[in-house]
Amino acid sequence: MSQVAHSPKPGQRRAAGPILIASANGIKTCNRAMQLLKEGADPVDAVVAGVNLVEDDPNDHSVGLGGLPNEDGVVELDSCVMHGPTHQAGGVAALRNVRNASSVAKLVMRRTDHVLLVGEGALRFAKAHGFKEQELLTDGARRIWLKWKESHSDNDDWLHPEADEEARRYLHLPELEFTYGTINCCALTADGDLGGVTTTSGLSYKIPGRVGDSPIIGAGLYVDNEVGAAGSTGRGEENLQNCSSFMVVEFMRNGMTPEQACLAILKRVAHKCEKRLRNDKGEPAFGLTFYAVRKDGLVGGATMRGEGKMAYHDGTECRHITIPGLYPAPPRRDGKDD
Ligand code: ASP
Repeated sequence: MSQVAHSPKPGQRRAAGPILIASANGIKTCNRAMQLLKEGADPVDAVVAGVNLVEDDPNDHSVGLGGLPNEDGVVELDSCVMHGPTHQAGGVAALRNVRNASSVAKLVMRRTDHVLLVGEGALRFAKAHGFKEQELLTDGARRIWLKWKESHSDNDDWLHPEADEEARRYLHLPELEFTYGTINCCALTADGDLGGVTTTSGLSYKIPGRVGDSPIIGAGLYVDNEVGAAGSTGRGEENLQNCSSFMVVEFMRNGMTPEQACLAILKRVAHKCEKRLRNDKGEPAFGLTFYAVRKDGLVGGATMRGEGKMAYHDGTECRHITIPGLYPAPPRRDGKDD
């Protein structure tokens, strides 16, 4: 298996932090978080401030304001944080009307004796802390949802429309009819402390009340200050069924590199996944990606299919690094070679 481009070889130790890793959509997140880490910020404060930038962006349809809604057209957000030095965690699930779900998750961790608040209770908790309610469904996200609603069944009274440019980007392929998208970011400080966050609007057009892996400690995020941190994006149901991020950290505890650990959980998921989720070769037909950083600063990731990308800030600059796929990329639709 090829090694992560630009990343150290397995077993090779990097100087300790500050280091940040994130899903591929996390370049600006890492830049902001690194600035804060260098000013001495706590790792969870740094990564949450970083992902807030994406949650605030109405043009990013995977997180926070402008996230794609559930099947009723209502945006429901999931997020969790985990703090290495204290092993504390906090999360919110199916949170409506408050765009910075990660900040609310951080407050659940710091200001309650609980780990997870959901739905109405999570909203009331956020409002108690001064978060203002707002409509999270932007016009762009509403148009994409409406096109989905009008085109996903022939057995209802909604007529098929011509999709506009933006909606087509999300709807043009059958497999993109449901859209995943999330941001995960994990930090290793100069003192060797770890922290992480995952935040998302979850699976688009989900059944109202559906909770994915992103707010669940051990599924969409896990941090162990003695070992490392891991997070994930993609089909959350698999991570819920396999405690995937927890397993990545456990694999690293047992001596694997981050890349090996991410590939190992992908193999587990591929072995266990239901038949209806497999392609005609019997391979998983969904996307799933893992990102991991070890306490010694080694970073890596892996994705289910084809080459993937993750964001990596080595303390000097943030760039995309290539991560391997468990299976090769599917053939190009135009029949040409890459
Ligand atoms: N994992 C998220 C979920 O299942 C979605 C994603 O990462 O795209 O809710």
